[in-house]
Amino acid sequence: MLNIKKPRGTNDFFYDSSKNLEFIENKIKNIVKLYGYGRIRTPLFEYTELFTRGIGEGTDIVGKEMFTFEDRGGRSLTLRPEGTASVARAYIENSMQNEFAVNKLFYLGTMYRAERPQKGRYREFNQFGAECIGSSSPLIDAEIILLNINILKEFGIDNVNLLINTVGCSKCKPSYNNALKEAIGNKKDELCETCQRRYDINILRILDCKNDRCREIIKDIPKFYDYVCDECKEHFDRLCEELTRIGQSFTVSNTLVRGLDYYTKTAFEVQTDALGAQSAVLGGGRYDNLIGLFNNGKDIPAVGSAMGIERLLIILENQNNIISERLDVFIAAFKETENEVLKIMQKLRANNISCDYGFSAKSIKSQFKYANKRNAKYILVLGEDELKKGMCRLKNMDSTEEKEVSLNDIHSNIEK
Ligand SMILES: [Zn+2]
Ligand SMILES: [Zn+2]
Repeated sequence: MLNIKKPRGTNDFFYDSSKNLEFIENKIKNIVKLYGYGRIRTPLFEYTELFTRGIGEGTDIVGKEMFTFEDRGGRSLTLRPEGTASVARAYIENSMQNEFAVNKLFYLGTMYRAERPQKGRYREFNQFGAECIGSSSPLIDAEIILLNINILKEFGIDNVNLLINTVGCSKCKPSYNNALKEAIGNKKDELCETCQRRYDINILRILDCKNDRCREIIKDIPKFYDYVCDECKEHFDRLCEELTRIGQSFTVSNTLVRGLDYYTKTAFEVQTDALGAQSAVLGGGRYDNLIGLFNNGKDIPAVGSAMGIERLLIILENQNNIISERLDVFIAAFKETENEVLKIMQKLRANNISCDYGFSAKSIKSQFKYANKRNAKYILVLGEDELKKGMCRLKNMDSTEEKEVSLNDIHSNIEK
């Protein structure tokens, strides 16, 4: 016997769970259409440099969470841990800047990170992301935030907390980093081990640390806003204005930096208590210097967001907010009448009616039980006597009303 289980931190989706996943994806697809986004599909694996350079060596993702392997020619490949670097690469590789001045792209698909698995966080997980490339306007930052909050609203998640911050640009980030170094320098030894390392490699990551002691130390750090350049300040002010104008409430969080190196100016996160404790369901920000990496240093402004689908799935299942699809007709037949089953089902399907058969003419009682389990709207019984008359019995499983109908006219007796 081959005793093989799925790899740690992965999921099998089937029946209800895969239907729920599809329900979420379809709803998202319909909403992003309203915002003018087109879908992009990039490979599940990329050359490793894309992520080490794009996301940044000092990040947790690159440092310890990537699934990296060699191809047969010895080149290093990595399963995509996030979507933005791939979209940036694809944008330049396909010269999309020549297509439209502003490209609005969304993706839905699996990402891979070797994290410690926990409820709602897996090593293979589904993510929805939106990327808008080509505009530096704060209006588009506001729109992408609204898009994401609208998606949550469509799923009945109304009680959200929007956090925003500005993290500066390549010109002004260094002066903030220095101010931060100075502010926590004399407490460096009290930081957790990881943060002591972060202090030298990537000090902004300290702001993300969950360690209580580290959180205490960063409580009174200098504000980004006081150190960023005029351009970044103006951009942030305008974003706040736009959100206010549209009636979207928000909180400015000085410690919000997001986990990746490429962010510039806007950083945002949406939290909800729908999963119990207040936690982030989505986040994003502006990345004006990422595309330049793939474009001979010529920057193209962009802003994006990412949302984990599995956490949304848990929230919706907790809320019973998912409508499961029902089978229209379940056929029950006797051994003597089974010959008619496929013919009848073909006709029903041609009329856009979903139907199924148990594929074993057991007792009628057990077939009824099965129809119930399948949550069928109707059960159609093929009795020998009725069949001789060109008829069958159709029972509405909800109203329990039963009637004899002509085999040629089953579909018009089915209420969709
Ligand atoms: Zn700046
Ligand atoms: Zn720490």
